[in-house]
Amino acid sequence: MELKLPFDPIKRANEVEKIVMRGNSRLYYRFRPAPYYGGIATADAIGCSFLCAYCWNYDKNLQPERFGKFYSPEAVSSNLLRIADKKSFSLFRITGSEPILGEVSLKHLIEVIKEIFEKKAWSKFVIETNGFILGHRNDLIKYLKFPNLRVRVAIKGVDEKSFESITGVKKDFFLYPIRAIKELQKRHIRAWPAVMKDLFNDSEIKSLKDILRKEGVKGDIELEKLERYPFVLNNMKKREITINRDF
Ligand code: SF4
Repeated sequence: MELKLPFDPIKRANEVEKIVMRGNSRLYYRFRPAPYYGGIATADAIGCSFLCAYCWNYDKNLQPERFGKFYSPEAVSSNLLRIADKKSFSLFRITGSEPILGEVSLKHLIEVIKEIFEKKAWSKFVIETNGFILGHRNDLIKYLKFPNLRVRVAIKGVDEKSFESITGVKKDFFLYPIRAIKELQKRHIRAWPAVMKDLFNDSEIKSLKDILRKEGVKGDIELEKLERYPFVLNNMKKREITINRDF
């Protein structure tokens, strides 16, 4: 896929969803136990509405048509449940991509979540999202009503400028993920912001906190740590993104 930065994430989400969805099946390339959150059954999917310089799945999200295999919601949930049973995990997630690109991918995600909660009602499912589509289409949030659902929204920049250079997305869309969190919280869905601490100094994080408060988002920010793979550092260098020297 050709991609000129900065791009329109609505257009890109539509294009990518057409590639990574076939009927109700989505492209995935791996299922695995992961150590995060104390142990979580993890499905690695492909396809995103953003193209972050530090994405650890950069190549697959740049050219989603070149990777993976299509899996139905039933196949995804049974792979995840098998991993959870083997490792005694009660947490589940889909990562490496944006799980919500539009209505078709959301339907797939909801079916995966439903199947998991039907088999393991006490478990928890974490949606890791860039929050863009939920900010753009608040009407889709009503489908996320599950008591044990958690939504972690990655806030990529502390202002329009850093958002555009990190995500490759036009700066006008900076507030969409923040507004998604506000809407999720308003509907009593457990949601919180996460930010890559390594890229910002304390005063930048403080100014992001001020924006979150002003927009009506409650709670703390989760601080993420950058995985410094050589290709990640190289992609960041190309976009002239530096690591915070205080970190
Ligand atoms: S939002 Fe996440 S999955 Fe998408 S490009 Fe950025 S880091 Fe990768």
